[in-house]
Amino acid sequence: MENKNDKTQLLGMTPEELGAFFKEQGQPAFRAKQVFAWLHQGVPFEKMSNLPKVLRETLEETCIDNPVSVIETIQSRLDGTIKLLYRLPDDHVIEGVLMRYKYGNTLCLSTQVGCRMGCKFCASTLDGCARSLTPAEMLGQIVCANGILAGQGEGQKVGNIVLMGSGEPFDNYDNVVKFLRILRMEGGLCIGMRSVSLSTCGLVENMRRFAEEDLPVTLSLSLHAPNDEIRRKTMPIANRYSMDEILSACRYYIEKTGRRVIFEYALVHGVNAAPEHAAELASRLRGMQCHVNLIPLNAVPERGLQGVSEREVDAFRKVLEQRNISVTRRREMGDDIEGACGQLRRRYLKDQRPNEKE
Ligand code: SAH
Repeated sequence: MENKNDKTQLLGMTPEELGAFFKEQGQPAFRAKQVFAWLHQGVPFEKMSNLPKVLRETLEETCIDNPVSVIETIQSRLDGTIKLLYRLPDDHVIEGVLMRYKYGNTLCLSTQVGCRMGCKFCASTLDGCARSLTPAEMLGQIVCANGILAGQGEGQKVGNIVLMGSGEPFDNYDNVVKFLRILRMEGGLCIGMRSVSLSTCGLVENMRRFAEEDLPVTLSLSLHAPNDEIRRKTMPIANRYSMDEILSACRYYIEKTGRRVIFEYALVHGVNAAPEHAAELASRLRGMQCHVNLIPLNAVPERGLQGVSEREVDAFRKVLEQRNISVTRRREMGDDIEGACGQLRRRYLKDQRPNEKE
């Protein structure tokens, strides 16, 4: 039987790398540009109509056009949000969410199979991290989503990317950076850095390194606490980096890119959601070019953490507003389809292994 894992993944290659690959095959240089365009349009080898038939057959036998395939889609009846479950060549399963806004389609991507950051409120991290995704596997998720949109007769492709699925992007630094460089290339998906948000729990060295990459995406920082003591209660990474170090790396990012930083703050009942926590947060963020995104916690039953009422969200928001901190409450999409990180994948894996205990 053929082994998919031995095949060369062409999707994650730059045009230069494809050029070298085709040169080795004795093909003319222009094949790289042709194949680069086809791959990002989601066209399988056999349909790459401007390639000789023999070449198409060789590619079919030895290479993979898209390492990601869709196992299942679930569409929300409330707002058209689509939850996607994908399979990778080594049979790992990852998930994503395709959100439909008035201004376009946004895809939430995974960057790893699981996650090893261990945040207590997050379902993605419950089984740890199996491995990091390749650039091809990140691009492949977008190619799949574009295929689904086209299949629904939707004219528009994915226009915005949020790296907020499973995984910690800065724990897979080189692959994420290469993915972003390919993402914006003309002749490919051509998605500019202004249309990308990257969310991190705050790996300080890599945040600073990333500020130098000339990839000015919107940086989202998962803060979830007004001080280190509270942050350590839910986020193990807070034992490695202090909030001072994180906020200083954020200021560096703002200075280097001219872009404001978004702070993600999931309100957890009895942990970080009191008005005095809002006041402390405001004083930490004073003077920074930033925005706070309040997220009512999506309860994860495995962890016993509780969300907050609308009234608590409102009270928290008002304290920040009074102190001139720009703040919004995150809109929830796909509430009826297990939209939160890692939940669908967990349900799927559980269904596959019904005898295993949680
Ligand atoms: N590892 C990255 C990106 C993935 S998570 C990070 O930590 O930022 C994307 C966002 O969802 C993060 O802000 C994360 O803290 C948040 N999140 C995870 N589980 C959640 C839950 N149960 N309810 C609300 N937000 C959650």
